[in-house]
Amino acid sequence: MASVPFYFYFIYCIFGLILPKIIFKRILLILDMKHTHCLIIGSGPAGYTAAIYAARANMSPVLYTGHEPGGQLMITNDVENFPGYPQGVNGAMMMADLQAQAERFGTEINLGVLIERVDFSVRPFRAWADNGDEITADSVIVATGASAKWLGLPSEKRLMNIGVSACAVCDGFFYRGKEVAVVGGGDTAAEEATYLAKLCPKVHLFVRKDYLRASKIMQERVKNTPNIEVHWNTEIQEILGGEHVDGVHVINNQTQEKKHIALEAVFVAIGHQPNTQIFKNILDMDETGYLITKPGSTYTNIDGVFACGDAQDKIYRQAITAAGTGCMAALDAERFLAAQGVI
Ligand SMILES: Cc1cc2nc3c(=O)[nH]c(=O)nc-3n(C[C@H](O)[C@H](O)[C@H](O)COP(=O)(O)OP(=O)(O)OC[C@H]3O[C@@H](n4cnc5c(N)ncnc54)[C@H](O)[C@@H]3O)c2cc1C
Repeated sequence: MASVPFYFYFIYCIFGLILPKIIFKRILLILDMKHTHCLIIGSGPAGYTAAIYAARANMSPVLYTGHEPGGQLMITNDVENFPGYPQGVNGAMMMADLQAQAERFGTEINLGVLIERVDFSVRPFRAWADNGDEITADSVIVATGASAKWLGLPSEKRLMNIGVSACAVCDGFFYRGKEVAVVGGGDTAAEEATYLAKLCPKVHLFVRKDYLRASKIMQERVKNTPNIEVHWNTEIQEILGGEHVDGVHVINNQTQEKKHIALEAVFVAIGHQPNTQIFKNILDMDETGYLITKPGSTYTNIDGVFACGDAQDKIYRQAITAAGTGCMAALDAERFLAAQGVI
């Protein structure tokens, strides 16, 4: 960040009498503005991995963490599938390690600060943060992730991580041999149910409607998996349990019949919302808001702006794939800046 030289205030005092103050204020503002070769928006595995690579490539990255420093893994007790941790690792500890690694190579990290607005129409790009920062950047890496949608029940919040999850691939293994439930009627719910059916003796699939929205092929898979029981027109009223989940109260929304079902985990699979609202009408995205990147790269529709992690991935949504695309984004940004003669 450029700081205002002391002599500038002296000149300001002299010439401020002659020139309109507004011009001087503008110059001061410009001098005080941050500039970086690489602005990274987001602090999940994608953002921090991009920062590690960008910092080691002398790009002096500036990273804004947003309001969820560390991203989705901060609410995860055990991450057992990230390579390099044979005993598994607490999600928050893993993210603290990633942050420390990014800082070690000189990334400037703005903790808890959200980028509210961007202008990618001209280079250098500009961004405005909710702490008042205005920053210009030669390249931008978008790593804003996606948020799982939840049912909104108080019991769901209370039992989060001790039986309630939004990721079967991540947490299903902890419930192998147990009876579990999946909530949802789309492709994700159908996929999660068939995945869990390989680990668990019985999977209850609670579907709000009397049909599945999932693709035909996924519907067939659900139908042909004998240990998946589909409960049509069914909604969870409450998830039960103290130290861990031990059941659910459900209601049939047509007959109003209520039921108690004993089970040990509930996987909520009602969709994800990519955190990409500030890029609407700027970056290409699909109908649900996932950013569109050129195949095999992290290039967006704007040269110099790259996207990685869950913000552009509705298929894999894993920490390791987010980190992998974070690495790609930093390498793509570095090549872009080198071609421009910036670094
Ligand atoms: C309950 C749960 C358990 C999981 N368990 C596992 C697991 O065991 N193994 C695994 O591999 N994966 C797991 N996942 C998936 C994994 O967490 C995600 O795939 C991964 O975190 C995606 O990383 P990301 O960097 O793309 O985004 P995220 O982790 O979602 O991080 C996004 C970041 O962007 C920031 N941000 C958003 N908007 C802005 C903005 N405007 N300005 C600045 N910053 C912004 C947020 O504050 C956040 O820091 C789990 C997910 C959940 C929900």
